[in-house]
Amino acid sequence: MIRMTLDEIAKVTGGRLVNATPSVIVSGPVEYDSRKIGPGGLFVAFPGEKVDGHDFAPTAMAAGAAAVLSTRDTGHPGVVVEEPLVALAALARAVVSRLPELTVVGLTGSSGKTTTKDYIGQLLARLGPAIAPAGSLNNELGFPYTVLQATEETRFLVLEMGARGIGHIRYLCDIARPNVGLVLNIGAAHIGEFGSVEGTAQAKGELVEALSPAGVAVLNADDPLVAGMAPRTSARVLLTGESADAAVRATEVSLDGAGRASYTLSFDGHSGHVRLAVAGRHQVANTLAAAGVALTLGMDFDDLVAALGAVGIVSSRRMDVFTRPDGVTVIDDSYNANPSSTAAALHALAAMKAGGRRIAVLGYMAELGSHEVSGHVEVGRLAAELGVDRLIVVAANARPILDGASEVEGWHGTAIFAEDQTVALGIVTGDLRDGDVVLVKGSRYRTWDVVDGLRPEGG
Ligand code: ATP
Ligand code: MG
Repeated sequence: MIRMTLDEIAKVTGGRLVNATPSVIVSGPVEYDSRKIGPGGLFVAFPGEKVDGHDFAPTAMAAGAAAVLSTRDTGHPGVVVEEPLVALAALARAVVSRLPELTVVGLTGSSGKTTTKDYIGQLLARLGPAIAPAGSLNNELGFPYTVLQATEETRFLVLEMGARGIGHIRYLCDIARPNVGLVLNIGAAHIGEFGSVEGTAQAKGELVEALSPAGVAVLNADDPLVAGMAPRTSARVLLTGESADAAVRATEVSLDGAGRASYTLSFDGHSGHVRLAVAGRHQVANTLAAAGVALTLGMDFDDLVAALGAVGIVSSRRMDVFTRPDGVTVIDDSYNANPSSTAAALHALAAMKAGGRRIAVLGYMAELGSHEVSGHVEVGRLAAELGVDRLIVVAANARPILDGASEVEGWHGTAIFAEDQTVALGIVTGDLRDGDVVLVKGSRYRTWDVVDGLRPEGG
């Protein structure tokens, strides 16, 4: 965090200074996990029934924290507030307002936010100090937490924004208003909460509404619901995509045997050949979006072309491809799943040159609401249409995937049901051959044991 006195922190959060002189300086990290606190940091104690952060205040102070932000007096120097989340938001807002040179990039979409945030962080780091921490810190906690990592040196702050309902993105934009707002795509993620893709578009579009006329909205020209957000912003619009109307455009897209895309990137009279190091056809859209942001912020075109070939995903369990000593390739895309991201992963599996068989281990996709059955059926149908050789479906609520696959006439693959992850892992490992490619995908932890069991020892 930037240097602030405890007195200033009390003022911006509306809190009460306790056990400290007003001039105590906080300059280190703001953390709510006492194990992460560093010298000069601010430890935030969240109350809780099972784990109460206040119990960890002594540990944090012993680790060098300068002060504690809490809901009750811990006996340590600090600020007592009513609601730590609200206080964090206020503190984050104050930090941004004190960094006039800072450029804030906000991005949202149904799939690929964390991936694209990683890319943007790597590209912008070539222009100046950039903050884009690994992981998916996109909610009312993770967002201000990320903002608070900014220091006086930071030039770019890349912020993932998630929405589970109307008003969520507006709330985040009110903490740190983006100078550049990027919307990736609108799909069926969290559709249970929104009811329809149009509802999702309404919520995600709050990002472009929050931009000022001096800002830039980077929109996906290939997704009509995203391109359709243009009238909702007073900012300049930059379209990215494969359509002819995209200003930052990919043409001549091809995939190599490892599922990695190459394309010709063009922008404003320039063109260059990009060869991605990351797998999946969907990385074309993600890297184009990241390119749109980098070009907006002044990156040289040729530098960008070279840099795009080097970007990788630093956040775990997203298109993480590894080959085992026995010649089996595993795609760990198990961080999370919804119908569109599973479709992207299945296409990546299909694009991989497999000496052996293509095996998909698919788990339950959460938060689909009334689309739950149809979403799973759709994914099963696609797996069969793409010619997956073995389809292993994990857990009862994912069963409709099998129904979808069985609807596809002429599919020669095998469909297997596994009641849980242990059974699924046994089925997969019991029949693996050199050259097989295994995709593992599901919502959150629900398929993580399968893929962890497939990792080579210590891998
Ligand atoms: P979350 O809502 O969980 O934060 P996210 O939007 O941050 O998700 P990522 O974690 O980057 O998304 O990616 C999740 C999965 O979505 C990936 O593993 C991949 O399968 C898929 N994915 C990534 N980019 C795209 C894309 N452009 N279109 C469709 N699917 C994608
Ligand atoms: Mg994410």
